[in-house]
Amino acid sequence: MPSIATATAATFAALGVLCLSLPARAETEAELPTRAEAIHARVLAIDTHVDIPPDFGTEAYDPLRARPPRQKVDLPGMEAGGLDAAFFVVFVAQRERDPANYARAMADAFAKIAAIRSMTDTDHVGRIGLARTAADVRRIHAGGRRVALMGMENGFALGRDLDLLGTYYALGVRYLGLLHNGHNDIGDSAVPSRRRNETSSEHGGLSDFGRAVIARANDLGMMVDVSHAAMDTALDAIRASRAPVIASHSAVRGVHDHPRNLSDEALLALGKSGGVVSIVAFDSYLRAVPAEKREALAAPRAEWNLRDATDWARMSVAERDQYSDRRAAIDRQWPKASVSHLVDHVDYAVGLIGIDHVGITSDFNGGGGIEGWNHANETLNVTLELVRRGYTEAEIARLWGGNLLRVMATAEALAARTEDR
Ligand SMILES: [Zn+2]
Repeated sequence: MPSIATATAATFAALGVLCLSLPARAETEAELPTRAEAIHARVLAIDTHVDIPPDFGTEAYDPLRARPPRQKVDLPGMEAGGLDAAFFVVFVAQRERDPANYARAMADAFAKIAAIRSMTDTDHVGRIGLARTAADVRRIHAGGRRVALMGMENGFALGRDLDLLGTYYALGVRYLGLLHNGHNDIGDSAVPSRRRNETSSEHGGLSDFGRAVIARANDLGMMVDVSHAAMDTALDAIRASRAPVIASHSAVRGVHDHPRNLSDEALLALGKSGGVVSIVAFDSYLRAVPAEKREALAAPRAEWNLRDATDWARMSVAERDQYSDRRAAIDRQWPKASVSHLVDHVDYAVGLIGIDHVGITSDFNGGGGIEGWNHANETLNVTLELVRRGYTEAEIARLWGGNLLRVMATAEALAARTEDR
């Protein structure tokens, strides 16, 4: 079927009034992938939040030979999918706040940092390098390798020790996700812990310790990440931070009302700070999951007594694989949200706070992954949908990483200025 523009051109030609000022013929659906592929190859694509399993960097989970579909990021997948860079996440599960658990959280954080560093520093140094600055990202990318960055998820990894932040920074961590599910010493979580019978607010937003953490992060040049924070905590953090703030993996309430998604107020504040929200490919944040599917998902969760990330952390690799296979079967019956849902959230955020303040992330291996973008090797599909919606190459380059690198460079510059004082 001819496109409308072609039909119009034909009509004008028939009338003998065709002239050079006519708009170019609209692109057909069949031509779109070619242009999207070319754009995707030219832009630097950064995924701002990718989790690693506990056995990452071991023979059981060599990032060069990860086993799809259970695990969604590996080096061959990044290369094939044109995913140039990723923040590999140092996640620690929120537990009861006591000295033993603070020590355990610190140990968990060091183990994950070591696993990522073994990938970048020894095991696969020829294919992926660790970036400590925004300039490093561009340099490593220009040299033809993938780029690894490190982000931390859950300030519980600090315990009550501010100095640990400097240690994590020295090892390469470049953003701090203040919270995970459950309140911590830094502030209130978007999702209070049911296991610990938490009410919606413990601190009324950010705590005094949280303010000190943000001031130290600013001094170091580590970005502050408000994903998982309660909206009051996020707003407090954005006000407290001297540097622009990020949400490394969130979606927006304006499209789907979920406690993990950002309100318009938080989005506007984050945009005004100069920051970036990376819209996350996470099924239940993007749209309402059908009731039958929610019921079906409850069964394997009950079977493995899987209530939160702490339970996930204690499961063996074999148990996790079994659970993931069950989950995948349910997803086949009731498909997850699509790339189109993801870009609906991108469109909304761009409309509200502008193209300079939006990014993209998968949350692979942390519950993320949707129809069409369920493995790093499918990353082109996101660009394809952006092109289909009319985003230009320059806009796509900003969404895919330019914005994040601007925030990272700003955080670095502010830290350098602090040092001068
Ligand atoms: Zn998360």
